[in-house]
Amino acid sequence: MRRASGAVFIVRQLLAVWMESMRVTSAGQRGSEAAGQWSADEALQLDLLPSRPLAPLPVLDQRARGTKFIELSVRSVLNTPASTHMGFWSINPYVGCEFGCTYCYARDTHRWVMERRGSWAERQQGSSPLPPWEAFEKEILVKSDVAEVLARTLSPARLAGHPLVIGTATDPYQPAERRFRLTRRILEVLRSYHGLSIEIITKSPLVTRDLDVLQALSRHNEVNVNISLATADPRLARRLELRSPVPAARLRALRRLTAGGIYAGLIVAPIIPGITDDWAGLAQLLEAAKEAGARYVIGSALRLGPAARHRFLPVLEREFPDLYERYRRHYAASDMTSRSYQDALTRRLNALRQAYGFAGDEASSRRRRRLEDSASSATDAAPQPAEQATLL
Ligand code: SF4
Repeated sequence: MRRASGAVFIVRQLLAVWMESMRVTSAGQRGSEAAGQWSADEALQLDLLPSRPLAPLPVLDQRARGTKFIELSVRSVLNTPASTHMGFWSINPYVGCEFGCTYCYARDTHRWVMERRGSWAERQQGSSPLPPWEAFEKEILVKSDVAEVLARTLSPARLAGHPLVIGTATDPYQPAERRFRLTRRILEVLRSYHGLSIEIITKSPLVTRDLDVLQALSRHNEVNVNISLATADPRLARRLELRSPVPAARLRALRRLTAGGIYAGLIVAPIIPGITDDWAGLAQLLEAAKEAGARYVIGSALRLGPAARHRFLPVLEREFPDLYERYRRHYAASDMTSRSYQDALTRRLNALRQAYGFAGDEASSRRRRRLEDSASSATDAAPQPAEQATLL
């Protein structure tokens, strides 16, 4: 129960910090968006960041599908709670993510790193013609020495009881991991410690490759693997997530993890209003999660900050034209769904958790409910399976 609550806390914290970062960037971004996405002013300003142009980053590999893997040397790899304003430590072995989910909130991380490296100048010279949103998906930065730096800098006392989350701004088991094995090497470093709380968030069945390390790690640490899945419908998933593993593969991975003794559950995030929030669709997910031995199911509604909006809204207009205008109007005023929508969604999830027997882990946990929606009293309301939430 404590672990499930921790996972909910982490999801909510991730969303919160993303909201904060979007607020910080959006003020500076609005001017350039008004005049076109990348203005000359922005280029000049960003060129001030490095004192002189840095050497181009070495390309480690390039795939026929158009993805480049680029080496990024790092001096520190642990993000502190103070630096991220989250209640946990985090580590990301890659920057960018080939899965290319249209709603992804992490897109700006890649842009920030490239800007700090002075790569804006390279872009201007035409050596990197991809716009930032596409570079996030196709120019994957690989922190080759992440495990060595972690081994040098990790001190359990510094963690002070906070969880360490792997994969807050990238998928640690995206295709790059097959070749570079950085996430596995991180886990191997962590094996030499006792008493840590370690969380992994991924959409990829590749996590099961590391079942042996996860089992060894679980003997002396609290390990929690969160499989992320927004819908059980493969066609719907493909319209929203360009290259992510199919839902059945993720559910099989969840099954293998739980059968292997790993504490694992499902994160239904984001829940997309009018698209993946219907009772039948969510019920299908919870039923599949139960069959896969999930210890918990948690979920949260879509939030759309400026970077994700820029990528998601054109897809919505093409794929779900009936919803486009409602989304455009709603998310122009707020990054979040309405309070009434969130309350209705919470009631729906609670009812489904009860229906599928997740109550022992989740629904009875007052702490989880506090974390999931501290401002809502609606979680105590009776389940209303037929309720249709007012979406936007
Ligand atoms: S898998 Fe996660 S990090 Fe990767 S694109 Fe999708 S939401 Fe973003």
